[in-house]
Amino acid sequence: MIGKKQSVPQIPPEVVDEPHSPLTANRSRCLVIQTAFLGDVVLTTPLLSRLAEQHGPVDVVTTPAASALLQYHPAVATVLRYDKRGADRGWRGLRRMGSQLRSRSYRRVYLPHRSLRSAVLALWSGAPERVGFEDSPAAITYTTRVPRPSTGHEVERILSLGGRTREPAPAVSLGLTPADHGAAESFLLENRVGTRFVALAPGSVWGTKRWPYYDKLVGELDHPCVLIGGADDEPLAALIVAANPGRAFSAAGALSLRESAALIQRASVLVTNDSAPLHLATAVGTPVVAIFGPTVPEFGFGPRGSGDLVVGHDTLACRPCSKHGPPACPLGHHRCMRDLSVEQVRRAVAILASAEESRAICPGH
Ligand code: SF4
Repeated sequence: MIGKKQSVPQIPPEVVDEPHSPLTANRSRCLVIQTAFLGDVVLTTPLLSRLAEQHGPVDVVTTPAASALLQYHPAVATVLRYDKRGADRGWRGLRRMGSQLRSRSYRRVYLPHRSLRSAVLALWSGAPERVGFEDSPAAITYTTRVPRPSTGHEVERILSLGGRTREPAPAVSLGLTPADHGAAESFLLENRVGTRFVALAPGSVWGTKRWPYYDKLVGELDHPCVLIGGADDEPLAALIVAANPGRAFSAAGALSLRESAALIQRASVLVTNDSAPLHLATAVGTPVVAIFGPTVPEFGFGPRGSGDLVVGHDTLACRPCSKHGPPACPLGHHRCMRDLSVEQVRRAVAILASAEESRAICPGH
């Protein structure tokens, strides 16, 4: 998980208002409830942009971890933090959040996350229109039930909630601030990383989605590496740094989520597992080498850049074995990751890094 230990700026405990945005003066009548994982929240930003085009900036209910990510997004008027696993857990927290939503008199609520909890919040908000997917276990509570596309990228699936249009999908995007870019720049300067570097995101909430050879990869790359991640990833990042003194630098736990995205934006390439940093790179336009083990891009969460590369085991019969990747390999061998060699990943990085360098020398190519 990305985000430094005290990464969330000092903000009110439940509501993050957007004091800098003139549009917040007009309270939004449109709400999106998205309390899934960070990556899901990033992939919801095209829907936020589409709804903002139609109705003006929208309000969003999301987790504390994701709230900072959306705090300065131009399509968002207000972020309402819902700590479903902490301060707001249980029925009491749900009712408190529901009352808060009701007091804001929404006209429409959109539900990209197919959870019962989100459906209850939408119902209690009192909004007359509630739009969600027809395969949700709570679909009976929606007023508009949208078929969820079984193929395609998650971005387009989520966007289908905003109605059909011939317009191209808005980009996956983040509202990064000058302070975010400044923090990324300071990290690079303080650590003397230089302007050409590769970002590595070795962590994942799910153990089987972690490729085990990041430490060896660093030694094979032409550029220094910066490790991206949250406080949970610090021990893993420290091991990789210890194995590569002077070649690897850890930003895990030192930069917030937005600052990490700003740092990824400066990298020549991001190497990542199937996890949230992949989608941050998509948002900031950095080329990605995505390493897929127990999951596959066909699930809808792959990279979206035209030059991005996926490294995965194409001939392993047990793969994919679960939607998110199990905590441990049920077969014990974890070959979906262990068979992916350092050389395979190094080659992929070299291809993208040289393409990136050509673009830098010759913009337009
Ligand atoms: S069962 Fe196969 S796909 Fe699943 S974790 Fe093990 S090796 Fe990977």
